[in-house]
Amino acid sequence: MRKLVIAGNWKMYNTISQAQDLIGGLLKNGTDMRKVDVVVAPPFTALRAVYDATAQSTIQVAAQNLHWAESGAFTGEISAMMAKEAGCKWVIIGHSERRQLFGETDDQINKKTVAAMAAGLKPILCVGETLQEREAGRTFEVLFRQLEGGLLGVGSDAAAKITIAYEPVWAIGTGKTATHEQAQEAHAKIREKLSLMFGAQTADKMRILYGGSVKPSNALELLSCPDVDGALVGGASLKAQDFLDIIEAGVKAGKV
Ligand code: PEP
Repeated sequence: MRKLVIAGNWKMYNTISQAQDLIGGLLKNGTDMRKVDVVVAPPFTALRAVYDATAQSTIQVAAQNLHWAESGAFTGEISAMMAKEAGCKWVIIGHSERRQLFGETDDQINKKTVAAMAAGLKPILCVGETLQEREAGRTFEVLFRQLEGGLLGVGSDAAAKITIAYEPVWAIGTGKTATHEQAQEAHAKIREKLSLMFGAQTADKMRILYGGSVKPSNALELLSCPDVDGALVGGASLKAQDFLDIIEAGVKAGKV
């Protein structure tokens, strides 16, 4: 059985003090978070403060991005080791906003994935099709290209530690959610592809999260799909009660 991951992508929201308040809200009501992996991804500036604020809990910290080089003249970037020393265990890689707004390519995403693994960080590799691609019947072609590109050169043992996030671009921040049938179909296809790439045993261990307007009202239905192993949550992770309700839905979906 795969343990569910409920991850909050805070994007460019929350200063240090706002981040501390949000963590305070998550810890206040005593929700049992041990049955799922709860991960939050604050902006770089708040990573250490969130790590400190969550030290007595099971909440884990993720970076939202990194550079593949160990160090160097890359103004504005951070390395995997910098994220790790700031308290990260995870890193989100290849989010559609990085791909679309910052021109990230599959090749760069692959280098980031490899660098994260080398530093001992767990990548959450995001893949997803645009509305145009879905309407043109190209969803799976796009997903498979992103998986092949992002995971190039990764061996089976390493792949087992990677989490995939299926995030249809048309559902991110739009309020439009994939139906649970659409999510299950895409997740099953992704697992089939991972099985071809890494073998069935590895594919069975890999967690595939759904992301795209997940909220308390739709979380349980999505998380109950057999191939949906958690959620990557944007907007709803910025409100403590909404995120807690999604965590509760994960616990209820009860896959461990
Ligand atoms: C995201 O940013 O990964 C995301 C899924 O955002 P939202 O939940 O707001 O659609």
